[in-house]
Amino acid sequence: MHWLAEGLSGLVDLLLPLHCAGCRRAGTAWCADCARELGGLHRVARPLLGPQPPVYALGRYRGAARRAVLAYKEAGQRHLAAPLAEHLVTGLRVITALHGFDRSWWLVPAPSRAIAARRRGGAHMTRIAHRAAAALTASGWPTAVADCLVTASTAADQAGLDTVERVANLSGRVLARTGRFPPRGAQIVLVDDVITTAATAASSLAVLAAVGSGAAAVLSLTATADCDERVDPDAPNGRGNSCPPPHVPGG
Ligand SMILES: [Zn+2]
Repeated sequence: MHWLAEGLSGLVDLLLPLHCAGCRRAGTAWCADCARELGGLHRVARPLLGPQPPVYALGRYRGAARRAVLAYKEAGQRHLAAPLAEHLVTGLRVITALHGFDRSWWLVPAPSRAIAARRRGGAHMTRIAHRAAAALTASGWPTAVADCLVTASTAADQAGLDTVERVANLSGRVLARTGRFPPRGAQIVLVDDVITTAATAASSLAVLAAVGSGAAAVLSLTATADCDERVDPDAPNGRGNSCPPPHVPGG
């Protein structure tokens, strides 16, 4: 019934008057003002993340950006996949330039719980990743998607859990999907919608590294406000303001 849900969702999108997912302005799904909320690049630092690979978010998980992510992910507004994918593409181009990466990527969507994916009519980051890959490939950056990670059904919803609980919840529960990994030597970026404690990203990176497919970077649409560094691509070293070292709970 997946095709039916997709079709009905598309039909509803056509019938309902369009409003911006960020500010409710009529006539557009995602207005230019709200798009600025996902138009930056923040280097994300969390106690669970090592210095490599670099982890970035396009915006803060608040205001218009948070509303758009939730509208897409939880309220079934699938037409937002297009603008959200555009933001990912823009961010990936900047990261590629900053680090001198190859213009050829494998996008690995952060895993969803199977039950949540079914409720949402498909893995939400996978849909965005395919759109982003198509746009990059069309512009001469050969890019593919490897939907190779899944969260075990025993993992609880991460919402409402603190850092320690999230790590315990996910430990060993991000699983590899055999036969779906990118080829060896592929340049991989893990793509996600929101980084909070980074428990999902850290577990995903560990699984990728364990199978010999280490990621070159992580790119998330949003990250909860923490002491992250805003990157100014025009600065000599690509850095903006500096932050004190991240606070380690209990440390
Ligand atoms: Zn708006």
